[in-house]
Amino acid sequence: MALIVQKYGGTSVGDVDRIKNVASRIKKTHAEGHGLIVVVSARSGVTNELIARAKAINDRPDTREMDMLLAIGEQETIALTAMALHAIGVPAVSYTGAQAGILTDQVFTKAKIKQIVPKSILKDLKEGRVVIVAGFQGMNEAGQITTLGRGGSDLTAIALAAACKADKCEIYTDVDGVYTADPRIVKTAQKIEEISYDEMLELASLGSKVMQSRSVEFAKKYGVVFEVRSSFNHNPGTIVKEEVAYMEKVVVRGIAVDKDQAKVVISGLPDKPSSAATIFTALAEASINVDMIVQNVAHTGGVDLTFTVQRDDAQNAVKVLPPVLKKLGGGEVKAYDNIAKLSVVGVGMRTHAGVAAALFTALGDRGINIQLIGTSEIKMTLAVERAKADEAVRAAHEAFGLSK
Ligand code: ASP
Ligand code: MG
Repeated sequence: MALIVQKYGGTSVGDVDRIKNVASRIKKTHAEGHGLIVVVSARSGVTNELIARAKAINDRPDTREMDMLLAIGEQETIALTAMALHAIGVPAVSYTGAQAGILTDQVFTKAKIKQIVPKSILKDLKEGRVVIVAGFQGMNEAGQITTLGRGGSDLTAIALAAACKADKCEIYTDVDGVYTADPRIVKTAQKIEEISYDEMLELASLGSKVMQSRSVEFAKKYGVVFEVRSSFNHNPGTIVKEEVAYMEKVVVRGIAVDKDQAKVVISGLPDKPSSAATIFTALAEASINVDMIVQNVAHTGGVDLTFTVQRDDAQNAVKVLPPVLKKLGGGEVKAYDNIAKLSVVGVGMRTHAGVAAALFTALGDRGINIQLIGTSEIKMTLAVERAKADEAVRAAHEAFGLSK
């Protein structure tokens, strides 16, 4: 008999029929004699709706009250899932995060899990009950309800798997697993059987938003092996774990694309030690996240500084920077919001040369211009024109033989 943690995302519990479907899947595993902890998200759309309602009432809602509100999304689905199990004869009990013993720090709306005391859970499991836990929420030291940041149900599942030393952790979602590229863009994209935490993190924080990044980091830290798979069929999914030796043979694991990017160009910036520091401090104070950064010596004297930001932040950057540039003694800022970021990811890149050459050749052959280049040990990122992004993904996918 194994202990299995299963997490069902918002679409998997999106309505009454889907909750019944989840219940019958749980019944099957329970009937095989396994212990089961089930983490559920709110019905898809519910958390967004609650946030919208809060903002319609107060544009800067108190964060404690926000968590009080957001926690109800998952409180609905745990109760309904337990009722669905009762209806088909499976003993089950639902718990809020606090009742499950999930203790967090004090930071409302993005709390970190500090400790899990699964006393009640373990007792229920021993007595044969399926335990249903509300994802995305916990309790701080003062006994207040906290939430774990958007997509936080994944984190609840991974953390419970670690705390209860589960034999298996399965993350059920509406896709079959992690693919070599978005199948809507590349028809021949393949499901990846096994992927390392590091590769998953690069893919998760980019275009393929299969899982919350923080939960993958947590899994890596505690060595929780998990599988991402679909709740709508019985296909095997993608196993995520620490890298294994053979993975090095595969140079590129997958291609991600983020089409919501913009490029900000500051030209004629005075060439002095504090310029970059002043600019990026001002952007940070405006909560603008900067990613790829390139600095060139300009023909006109001074330097040109180019960087990428989320598309939503581009206009804000253009507003924030002019007074800063004025103080620095010059420079003009311009935003181009037609940018996509393409990333080629693989742990094999650590030990293989030639990835850049192959990638640039593939894009060059199709007349796709590369605007910015960034690299890390296991990733190469390019900024290209958004209109060319899909073609660029297909070109890269083909160049690295990812269609098999
Ligand atoms: N319901 C929360 C959200 O939408 C948590 C989750 O679904 O994982 O962000
Ligand atoms: Mg989710």
